[in-house]
Amino acid sequence: MSIRVIEDKCIGCRLCVKVCPLGAITVVDKKARIDLDKCDLCGACVTACEKFQAIEIIREKEAAGDLDSYQGVWVFAEQKEGMVAGVTLELLGEGRKLADQLGTTLSTVLLGSGMDQAAQELIAHGADRVYLADSPQLADFLEDPYAEVLTELCREHKPAILLMGATTIGRSLAPKLAARLRTGLTADCTGLAIDGETKNLLQTRPAFGGNLMATIICPNHRPQMATVRPRVFPPAKRDENRTGEVVRLDYSARQLLQRAELLEVLKEAGTTINLAEANIIVAGGRGLCDQKNFALIQELADLLGGAVGASRAVVDAGWIPYAHQVGQTGKTVCPKIYIACGIHGAVQHLVGMQSSELIIAINKNPEAPIFKVADYGIVGDVLEVIPALIKEIKKARGEA
Ligand SMILES: Cc1cc2nc3c(=O)[nH]c(=O)nc-3n(C[C@H](O)[C@H](O)[C@H](O)COP(=O)(O)OP(=O)(O)OC[C@H]3O[C@@H](n4cnc5c(N)ncnc54)[C@H](O)[C@@H]3O)c2cc1C
Repeated sequence: MSIRVIEDKCIGCRLCVKVCPLGAITVVDKKARIDLDKCDLCGACVTACEKFQAIEIIREKEAAGDLDSYQGVWVFAEQKEGMVAGVTLELLGEGRKLADQLGTTLSTVLLGSGMDQAAQELIAHGADRVYLADSPQLADFLEDPYAEVLTELCREHKPAILLMGATTIGRSLAPKLAARLRTGLTADCTGLAIDGETKNLLQTRPAFGGNLMATIICPNHRPQMATVRPRVFPPAKRDENRTGEVVRLDYSARQLLQRAELLEVLKEAGTTINLAEANIIVAGGRGLCDQKNFALIQELADLLGGAVGASRAVVDAGWIPYAHQVGQTGKTVCPKIYIACGIHGAVQHLVGMQSSELIIAINKNPEAPIFKVADYGIVGDVLEVIPALIKEIKKARGEA
């Protein structure tokens, strides 16, 4: 894709100059000039010039040969305060499998400041190469500089596949990057595979409210971009004997685009619970009958050293903050033990917890779908069963 000014139609009115967010347009001799190095083809100028139709975006389908020049699997390595996010290690595990199937390399792109140790960790977890973009401007995530660096690296090195976590950072960065690279993006994937014949990436994700799984391909554009939720895949195993290449890219001398400034990071009290990392989750649903009965869920979770989860119904009812919600529009969790108390087992809840190692369900309705995914089911009233469980656990520990 490209963009051009149709000189016969341009009257040098400067409307395009005013709307360009990147300062890519100037007017010389009453004609607009577009700096293609700065332009990201957002189309704002085309819209502004609707009356004169003097700017056009030229769309041309990439030839198959162009697609072949894209090689390798990339994982965007997310970091906060210098710590690599868990989802990155999960993507490295999955990325390794895809790269091996394609007979290609697995690379990661790590943006930050002073991240040499983290780069070695990425290699130990399966990366063949780490593009390490280093600058104090990249220490904390900000959309503009991160998107600028990633766009540049993708244009230069042409990865065939780019995977990112479906985290707050990934969800804000991936669409921006996909738009700049003029490629597709499949958000919130739960499965990735390679089509044996075409070598296209098969990107599977829930669709229609989780009622069916859709497999999406991006056959005409590169890179093939997907975000994947944390805890969908197991983390890659660490092998300290692995070796790889670190490609250092020093951005410290370059002024990166920065339209926002990070003033402070405030940790919201309600989001401090770490459901995704918990080994045991005790989750409550509408079957608890009343907000006050969440105290039973909390007590059982505390006794087991676990975290409290919830269905969307009780979050919507205001019984518990959103940070506790498990499911399609909440968190995806994969604990060792998941205890579902008074939760029906709607498909939107199940997609967020069904990969838990052991599922225990308590529900008074023996037909509730939660029992279909449960390893152990207790048919009964949660308000009787949970206190009985608490009592037995305390008794077994000599606390009662
Ligand atoms: C687009 C979309 C996204 C969604 N995302 C999510 C999501 O992320 N997470 C999520 O959870 N839901 C989600 N939902 C909502 C989902 O469809 C269900 O409505 C919700 O999960 C129901 O919550 P629940 O099981 O607590 O309540 P209910 O469906 O009301 O079920 C309550 C259960 O408790 C049992 N029960 C009642 N009283 C007792 C008792 N005393 N003892 C024992 N059992 C009892 C009942 O038999 C019943 O099975 C989403 C829906 C849509 C459309």
